[in-house]
Amino acid sequence: MTVSSIEKGIPPKRAMVVFAHPDDADVAVSGTVAKWAKAGCEVTYVLLTSGDKGSDNPRMISPRIAKIREAEQKAAGKILGLKNVVFLRYKDAELLPFDLKMRHDIVAEIRRYKPDALFCQDPTNRHGAGGGRGINHPDHIAAGEASLAAVFPSARDRLTFPDLLVQGLKPHKVSNVFLMMTRDPDYFEDISSTIDLKVQALKAHKSQFGENAGERWKQMAENLGKQHDMKYAEGFRWIKLDRPFIQPSAADSPYAVGKKQGTEKKEPALARR
Ligand SMILES: [Zn+2]
Repeated sequence: MTVSSIEKGIPPKRAMVVFAHPDDADVAVSGTVAKWAKAGCEVTYVLLTSGDKGSDNPRMISPRIAKIREAEQKAAGKILGLKNVVFLRYKDAELLPFDLKMRHDIVAEIRRYKPDALFCQDPTNRHGAGGGRGINHPDHIAAGEASLAAVFPSARDRLTFPDLLVQGLKPHKVSNVFLMMTRDPDYFEDISSTIDLKVQALKAHKSQFGENAGERWKQMAENLGKQHDMKYAEGFRWIKLDRPFIQPSAADSPYAVGKKQGTEKKEPALARR
């Protein structure tokens, strides 16, 4: 799978979504993964926590809500046509961005399922919630940071986490990373054919959302779509890792003396139908 294949509108053979809590992926990327799954892409969800703090009910306990939310995520996964749903069961609200055990465990899943494209949360988005006026959940930031570190360089390098090699989990290079929940998207997927599946998947998270929750995100997908000549859209920041490295000239360096800000050439945003 190459970058140019995605640019031509061909979904990758295998995709993975790594995220903090049940429902995060269905809010951010479920329209895209349902569309790709329909086209034959094998999609794996990797949940770092099972959302064991996600209840205001005074009679609820963490093990029970975690079980409920895992069942909800599996039900949503069936609706979306996912191939695998993996629960790593770290503690909700306690994720650490540079937790080496968590990085190790994400690397294991990357090496096991060999995704061409990996979606994760944007760790640079500190205030993205509430239209940019909120606080992003620290687990989202930690999940994104750990996922990027797992993709590069740990999943690629055979000498990192040598116990994985012993288990037969060989190095794997991910070609494309898409940051979800980003404030700076430059890739937009037309999800008009799967918006109803997205709404159904969101409705599966009954412990978290009311009956009309799906409609809220449908409206958001419609608003984003309008800006990009689509009916419904999801947006991501695309990091391309299989492009040949080109040594920048000194003049191109952002650190060059006298470099004027804002003069960099920007690649146009990509939109797929
Ligand atoms: Zn979350």
